[in-house]
Amino acid sequence: MDEAKRHHPATLAAQALGWIDEATKAVVPPVHFSTTFIRDPDNQYRSGRSYARPKNPSFEQPEAVLAALEGGTECLLFASGMAAATAVFLALAPGDHVVAPRVMYWGLRKWLQGYARDWGLDIDFVDGASSEAIAAAVRPGRTKLVWIESPANPTWLVTDIAAAAEIAHRAGARLAIDSTVATPVLTRPLSLGADIVMHAATKYLNGHSDVVAGALVTARQDSFWERIAAIRTNQGAILGSLEAWLLLRGMRTLFLRVERSCRSAQRIAEHFVGHPRAAAVLYPGLPDHPGHAVAARQMTGGFGGMLSLRVAGGEAAAIAAAARVRLWKRATSLGGVESLVEHRASVEGPDTPCPPDLLRLSVGIEDPADLIDDLDQALSSGN
Ligand SMILES: *Cc1c(COP(=O)(O)O)cnc(C)c1O
Repeated sequence: MDEAKRHHPATLAAQALGWIDEATKAVVPPVHFSTTFIRDPDNQYRSGRSYARPKNPSFEQPEAVLAALEGGTECLLFASGMAAATAVFLALAPGDHVVAPRVMYWGLRKWLQGYARDWGLDIDFVDGASSEAIAAAVRPGRTKLVWIESPANPTWLVTDIAAAAEIAHRAGARLAIDSTVATPVLTRPLSLGADIVMHAATKYLNGHSDVVAGALVTARQDSFWERIAAIRTNQGAILGSLEAWLLLRGMRTLFLRVERSCRSAQRIAEHFVGHPRAAAVLYPGLPDHPGHAVAARQMTGGFGGMLSLRVAGGEAAAIAAAARVRLWKRATSLGGVESLVEHRASVEGPDTPCPPDLLRLSVGIEDPADLIDDLDQALSSGN
C-alpha cells in the first residue's frame, strides 16, 4: 500500500486508492454478484476465491480504502454495525472479563446486558469519560477487552483513547473503539494505541442513508483477528455486493461531507448556547463540554456532526419541539446528508442514561442557516 503512505487520507478516499479496473480501464469498479468461482483443473483455487461468503471481490476495494483511512493492516466489512461489534465480543471466550462504557450505542449496550452476559461474558459498565474509572475496572490478566465509544451516543462524552489503550494494554487486554461518530476524518484511534476500530458504516462512511453496513479495522493480524474473520465467515453476517459497492461510492465523498457537517454542527451548537428554550447544548466542540479538552487533543478538523439539545420544559416540550420541525427529518440514525432529529429516550427505553428532555441532532450537509432557522421556530413556537 505505497499510495497510502504518499497521499493524504482525503486524496485516498476521493480516488478510492486510485484503483483502475485492469480489464476495462474503468475508474469505478464493477459489482461482482457471483457467489461462486471456478476451480482450476488441478483442483486448486489459485484465485484465492471459491465462494462469496468467505471472500467476495466486491469487498476488497472498500476494505482496502477503509484500512488505509484508519491506518490499519486489514479491514473486514459486515452486514451491519451490530454484526461488526458483536463479532468482537464473540471472539472472546465465555468467562472473559470486559469493560464497557455506560453511555454507548444503546443497541449494543442492550445486547451486552442480555445475550453477551447469558453467553458468559463478565461485563462491567463504567463511566467511559473517566480514565480513572476504566483503570479501576480492569482486572489484570482477567480483562480481555476494553470497549469504548467516542464521542459516545447520545451525550457525546469523550474518552481519552490513548489513556484507555495504555490502561487496557497494561492489564493484558485489547482496546476496541466504536468510532462511528468520529469517522477516520476526525480521529485515527489506531494511531492512538487502539487495537480494533469499529464503524457502523451505515452512518458517515456510506453517508446517504441507503446502506446498512459495518466494518472493523485492525492494527495487526493476530489470532484474535483470525477468530473475528472466522466468525464473519461462519455466522455469515456478510454485506451484499451492491451494498459494498455503494459504500465505496459513499466513502469517496466522506471528507467533504464530514467537514461540512462539523462546521455546521459547531455553528448550530454555538447558536443554541444560552437560547431560552435550550436547557443545555451537548457538543464536544463547546469549551464547557466535559470532553472538550480531550476532544481538542485527539480529534483533528472538527468535533463531529452530532450534537444534542436538552429542551427547556422537559420531555413533553422536547417531543413537541421535534413534532414542529419542517426541514429537519424526524427519524433515527445519523451521518447522512440530510439532517435528522430524534427524541432519543423514546428509542432507548426505560433503563437508558439518556436524559428525557434530549433531542439528538445529526447535522447533514444542508445550508446551516436553514437548519438553525427551522430549529429556532420548532423550539420557540407553541408556547
Ligand atoms: C448505528 C450505530 C451502531 C449500529 O450500527 P448498525 O449498522 O445500525 O447495526 C453502532 N454504533 C453507533 C455509534 C451507531 O450510531
